[in-house]
Parts: sequence; C-alpha cells; structure tokens
Amino acid sequence: MAEYISTRDITQQPRTYSEVLLEGLAPDQGLYVPTELPQLDLITLEALSGYDYAQVFEHVKGLFIGSDIDPSVQTQLVRNAYTEEKFPKAEGGNITPLRQVADEFFIQELSLGPTAAFKDMALQPLGQDMQHVLSASGDNLVLLGATSGDTGSAAEAAVKGLGNISLFMLSPEIGMSEFQKAQMGALSGGNIHNISIPGRFDDCQDIVKAIKRDPEFARLGAVNSINWGRIASQVPYYVAGYLQAVEGAIGRPVDFVVPTGNFGNVLAGYLAREMGVPIRRLIVATNENNVVDTLIQTGQYIRPASAQVTTSPSMDITVASNYERLAFDLLEGDPEALRQYMHTFAEMGKVAFEDFGLPNTLLLEMGFDSGTSTAKDRIDAIRWTYARGGGVIDPHTADAVTVARRKNYFGIPMVCMSTALPVKFEPTIKEALGFVPQREPRFKDIEQKLGGFTLLENTPDSVKDHIRTQLSAQ
Ligand SMILES: *Cc1c(COP(=O)(O)O)cnc(C)c1O
Repeated sequence: MAEYISTRDITQQPRTYSEVLLEGLAPDQGLYVPTELPQLDLITLEALSGYDYAQVFEHVKGLFIGSDIDPSVQTQLVRNAYTEEKFPKAEGGNITPLRQVADEFFIQELSLGPTAAFKDMALQPLGQDMQHVLSASGDNLVLLGATSGDTGSAAEAAVKGLGNISLFMLSPEIGMSEFQKAQMGALSGGNIHNISIPGRFDDCQDIVKAIKRDPEFARLGAVNSINWGRIASQVPYYVAGYLQAVEGAIGRPVDFVVPTGNFGNVLAGYLAREMGVPIRRLIVATNENNVVDTLIQTGQYIRPASAQVTTSPSMDITVASNYERLAFDLLEGDPEALRQYMHTFAEMGKVAFEDFGLPNTLLLEMGFDSGTSTAKDRIDAIRWTYARGGGVIDPHTADAVTVARRKNYFGIPMVCMSTALPVKFEPTIKEALGFVPQREPRFKDIEQKLGGFTLLENTPDSVKDHIRTQLSAQ
C-alpha cells in the first residue's frame, strides 16, 4: 500500500500517489513523503538486471504507485513517456547508459531525452501520470511554474498536447540562454503558455508564490521537484546505474556522485539506498553555491543572501527545497521537530543539527559526502574527461567529475551522473576545448527561431489576468 503524508503534519489523512501527484505541495506547506519505503532485495535486483530501462522503471516506480493505477495502464504510461522518438540516441532500450572514463570510474548519461537535460527522465512520466489521473476523473489541471533553465522546456515537452493539462511557465526576460529560450519558445501554443517577466528568476518565483496564495488559484499544480511524482520517477535510474556498474556482481557497493541544486536528484539516490540498493556513498557535488556541501560537512544549513551566477546555472540555488524530505528522516519523522527546524532556518537564515540533539557530522556518518567545484574546476574536468576518451561533458556533469576525482580513493565503482548535454552550454565547452561538438540535427540552428513568449508586467495581477483570459479562450 503506497501512502503519503506531509513532512509537517502526520495527523492528516494519508494520500494516494494520484492525489499527491496533482497536489504538489501539501496544504500545510510540507512536502509529501511515503509512510513506508518499499524494499528492493538483492534477489529482486538480480532479476531486474536482465530488464531494459522501461521495465526497471516500471517495477521500481510501481512500488511507489501501488494499486492506485492499474498495472497494465502503468505499463502503457511508461511506454508513452520513454518513446524512441523522444529519446532518439537511446541504444537498445538503454536510455541511461554508463560510459567508462577511468578504471571503475563511470559517467551515467541521463540527458538523452527531448530537451537534453536529466529533468526529462522524471517529467516525461510525470506528465503521462497526470494526464491519466485527470482523464479518469474528467478533471482539468492548470500547472504554474517558474524557470531560469532546464525545468521550463522539460516540463513543456512533457505535457505538450496533453488534453487535460494547461501549463503556464514564467521565465525572466534576461538571464536565460538563447538555446533555452528557443527550446521553450518552440513549444508555445495549444496548452503551453510561455510568459516572460521583466526581472529576475526570483521575481518569477515570487509571482508564482503570490498567485498560489490566492484562493481562486489554490488548485494549481506544480512541476518542480517538490512534486513527489518527480522524485519517484528518479529512483529507477539509480537502480539501472547500479546494475550496469557492478556487471552482475549484485551486492557489490557503488558510489554515486550527483551534481546538486535543489536536492531532488540526490534525494532519489538516498531513497534507492534506503530501499536496499547497495550504494555506499552518495557524494554531492555543488558549484560555488555550496549550501549543501557546507551542510554535509558541518551540519549547518545556511542560506546565503543571494545565489551566485555560475557556468553551471541549473545548480545556482540558495535553498535546497528537497532537503526537507531528508531532514524529516533525520529528525525521525517528527513533524513538530521538522517544523521547528525549518522555521529556524526561515527566520534566522541558518540552523544546525546540534541544536536538535544531533551530531553535526550526522550526514557524513550516514554515508553522504560532498565537495565544491568552481568555474576553473569545470574547465579542468571537461578537459580531463575529453582527454581520457570520456567524450564532451557539460558543466554540471563537470562539477560531479571534479568532486568524484577528489573522492575516488577506495577502489569501488564510482558513477558520476550526467545531467545535461554539452550542446546546451557551448560557450563553456568552447572555452575548455577550443571547439564545440557538431550539433545533432534536432538542435541545429535552434536559436534562429526565437519567439513564443508573452511579455507581461512584473506583478501577480498581470499574470492572473493572463491565465484567466487564456483559460476562457480554450
Ligand atoms: C536541475 C539540474 C540539476 C540539479 O538537480 P537537483 O535535482 O535540483 O539537485 C543539475 N544539473 C542540471 C543540468 C539540471 O538541469
């Protein structure tokens, strides 16, 4: 039985997968977590090692859905999510292949989807699940989100044309790359509404928050990684990565290195380990915005005044939203303690484990580790990987490779997650290698088709009016 409760209030009625999927954030502002974590024993892992990715996904994710969606329907939804058309470079059904860079040092490619970022891995199935649940009940859902990077295009590619969903995506007028704007603009039309805001990403986020506080818009859904459906859809690729790294030696431990922003990706790795996948260490790689590195090394969760703009922009955060789900476990599932902890962080801008009776080294003791990578490190890692025949990696993957190299001294397989294709970040690739790889046909000259955004005022009211007008016109 897969059931969910909010991190901030366990007295409420547990929810089903379908319910938390459409709700996003819990009404008490907490994040949904499973009441009980399903288990994957070694015999099951053994059996899964003969499966292709869609089958591994179906089994592992199915544990989080339970009987909520009919198994044969689940099979179909997975097929719709991971088609060959959407994952054109997938070889033999393996859409998360490992490639070896050094002895027992691998890169797991998670970016073969339609928008060339790992967010496709979770958003494609999320869109399918939402559409299924909505069409069964005859409801419609309006999704509202803010993006400064990969979330926008991945969410749009995932819900484009789905009949019961409308998506409104806010992005800053200045700050996104032309490539990212072009990717989103090309998806405009029908149920996809791209809104450009004269301001920064923070302004977009503030508008989203303000609109969600308005009772008229209380039922808006979320596509960011606070949505449990995204986390549940990420656990399977850790299983697939593990099975490839150990090559049949099921039970052998593996380290994973994860380029981290909002803590969504690595949280799925933590869940995989808690479920029984023999992951020894989960190593978090941050860029200069090293909130999570500091947290893991010192037990202090400290919010900086603002995020630095870096060359791995999808990790430029001040708050790691999904960390709340881990913190809930650290505080032994006590919602009162969790509320206190998050409240202290919100009010004081920092909070320490020791203030809650926990050792500041707790995360290190639990097998987390971490490191910070800088602009120069990224350049070095891109060069190092290329020189070793590991291909051209993007700057986010380079953050992982940097930290992996520093932490790789125990002689067990180490898997670095590749979270974007280099085509999205060509200026940094050019700086590192002096050239950029030839683009796949699907990305050739994409920047020449700019457009598809509606420019609105930087106020919640202008966006509300636009949503009302667009929805009544449909
Ligand atoms: C979103 C993103 C990340 C960060 O993932 P989180 O789940 O937020 O930790 C890293 N790399 C790329 C390319 C991304 O798009």
